[in-house]
Amino acid sequence: MKQALRYLTIAVLGCVSSAALAGPKYHITTHPLPDTTVIRGVRVIDGTGAPPKDDMAIVIHKKKIVAIGPNLEIATPKHSEVLNWQGKTVIPGLIDDHAHLGLVLHEKGESSADAYTEANVVGELYRFQRYGVTTINSLGMNRDLVYDLRKRQKQGNIGGSTLLTAGRGIGIEGGAPPLAAQPDAIYRVTTAQEAREDVRIMAKQKVDFIKVWVDSLRGSKPSMSPEIYRAVIDEAHKNHLRVAAHVYYLADAKDLVNSGVDILAHSVRDTAVDQPLIDAMKAHGTWYIATLAADESSFTYLDHPELLESSFVSLAAGPVLVSKLKDPAYKAKVQADPATAVKRQDLKMAQENLRRMVESGVKVGFGTDAGAFPVRIPGVMEHRELQLMVQAGLTPMQAITLATSKAAELLQLRDTGTIAAGKNANLIVLDADPLSQIDNTEKITGVWHNGQLVGDLATE
Ligand SMILES: [Zn+2]
Repeated sequence: MKQALRYLTIAVLGCVSSAALAGPKYHITTHPLPDTTVIRGVRVIDGTGAPPKDDMAIVIHKKKIVAIGPNLEIATPKHSEVLNWQGKTVIPGLIDDHAHLGLVLHEKGESSADAYTEANVVGELYRFQRYGVTTINSLGMNRDLVYDLRKRQKQGNIGGSTLLTAGRGIGIEGGAPPLAAQPDAIYRVTTAQEAREDVRIMAKQKVDFIKVWVDSLRGSKPSMSPEIYRAVIDEAHKNHLRVAAHVYYLADAKDLVNSGVDILAHSVRDTAVDQPLIDAMKAHGTWYIATLAADESSFTYLDHPELLESSFVSLAAGPVLVSKLKDPAYKAKVQADPATAVKRQDLKMAQENLRRMVESGVKVGFGTDAGAFPVRIPGVMEHRELQLMVQAGLTPMQAITLATSKAAELLQLRDTGTIAAGKNANLIVLDADPLSQIDNTEKITGVWHNGQLVGDLATE
């Protein structure tokens, strides 16, 4: 009977998440689930990097994991529902330290300055969540609507991936990011004083981070001066806020780190990272986010057209984007674009640099730049990032650890990122073990977020 109820619930939730994908119908109906669920018989990869444990039981009560241990040692609490999931593997929900919201109109498959609407942003939060990304940090280019959405989500009135935000972020006039955005979605400053004022405004909004862009975009645009970013870092720290910087060049990365920046939000890609940068990052405790999938994104579907045939990608991308990416004209354009060869080189360098950072013991988080452009598909990107990390030479266990416990540590979140008693029940249930093959993270049976079964790709 209980099992029947569960199947019914899964089917209903599956439908709800389809509706959420389509747009504004995001108020999930709650179902009369028991307060306590016991997941039995699973292999657990807990996110800490510890070896996997087989035949485990996880007890979820309301929002939290309240017990975890060997199946035979965990009693079933009264009035709880038992899910016998032998053969499945459970990993923590993924955490994206560098994503974006409201920059893409998904029904048209195109970037738009008009995409930052409540329906679109909330729809994206649901997309991330149903792909197992239970927390995202929207790192800049947010309209002030983001503060209201974050507040309403904390109150329990909006679901989807848990939202953190850097608000608008700070660039310079005529510089990076080279994206069309509403004037209230980014600060473009000309002086250090203006930058300080903008930091103070965002501090009043209680942003989770301050974002700056430091990049000449291969010499095509002016780059933010050290005077300005140092002022941003100083003012942010005075307001107890950390600063994440978009970077590309090694020289910028070094000066930012030595100026006290807290996070490098992309890979160094112009050249190999060197020992002085590594030493400075370790001395300052600076975090590094590789965003490999962002570097790959302009040619992912040229090189791997088979991905567009999978429902994993096509459900998230939507039919319009899928047909654009399948169009021979798109492929010809990417192939003919001289930037494509540069981006291939960027990805290779980024992968080498990530491996070096991990080997050197620099603090590494997890991010993708998902949502910044149509091809950077929310939810899909995070799984792609794991695959590119493994391709770079990390073990599947290292990649999963960065995407869970380390990513949570970067965001200073204590209640998520690992599977342990006392943590929020943020889990992905997989049909196959990602330690043997990393793309098994795409074989999602169910996603739990804050103790609720919120999505099930298998029922789509
Ligand atoms: Zn970004």
